Amino acid sequence: MLLEIKNLYVKYGNVEALHGININVDKGEIVTILGANGAGKSTTLMAVSGLVKASMGEIIFSGTPLHKISADKIVKLGISQSPEGRRVFGILTVLENLKLGAFTSSDNKKIKKNLDWIFELFPRLKERSEQLAGTLSGGEQQMLAIGRALMANPKILLLDEPSLGLAPILVKAIFETVREINKSGLTVVLVEQNAKAALKLAHRGYVMEVGNIVLEDTAQALLANP
Ligand code: ADP
Ligand code: ADP
Repeated sequence: MLLEIKNLYVKYGNVEALHGININVDKGEIVTILGANGAGKSTTLMAVSGLVKASMGEIIFSGTPLHKISADKIVKLGISQSPEGRRVFGILTVLENLKLGAFTSSDNKKIKKNLDWIFELFPRLKERSEQLAGTLSGGEQQMLAIGRALMANPKILLLDEPSLGLAPILVKAIFETVREINKSGLTVVLVEQNAKAALKLAHRGYVMEVGNIVLEDTAQALLANP
């Protein structure tokens, strides 16, 4: 098991956002976490990426509890987007943003290889590599955020509503790219409100309601029982 979330509780002050959830992710899977606004999806991703602390329970990554993993290794878990918005630096170019994603690495060959791969995945970014990220469209910024997460060679890619606010044609393009990224061997956890699209892409899914997991099944079964 690559990622195990065990009986996880998270509190914001007096508000309990997660009431003991359990999620398992195998290597190579795309797992989607679905649910309405406020269900706790972003909080779950933030807990996995170390941005919020568990008040109870455990997150285990490749057999190691998260609190025992050093900060630079946590970056390698890979998160493309914060719940507050896309994490791109508007006053830096596309290329500079991507290189920032590799800040834990000094292996220039690997950095170059990753850049080539990301430009292959997102030709729009290649065409705009010298453009300031702040001048990109929402969809292009989303691609850049995913590209930057990939630059850290993550073992798992965490995506928080990559389709949010995008034109349908770009949503399709981004989901197809996520499929391609997964086919290259990377494990993906995808948080989405767009359940149907996410389930078409994912292998398994979890449905959350106010801090609890209420349903867990294969994507196929969840699609058949809306
Ligand atoms: P989702 O991603 O499913 O929309 P969230 O994880 O963002 O849900 O939120 C879960 C619950 O936690 C909600 O009730 C939300 O209001 C609350 N919450 C989220 N972030 C904070 C915060 N920084 N401070 C206080 N409450 C928060
Ligand atoms: P690691 O060295 O962290 O174990 P992998 O051996 O799984 O990583 O992959 C090496 C890196 O090559 C990946 O992290 C990814 O950034 C990149 N990569 C993955 N798939 C491709 C591909 N199809 N073409 C080019 N580069 C790829």
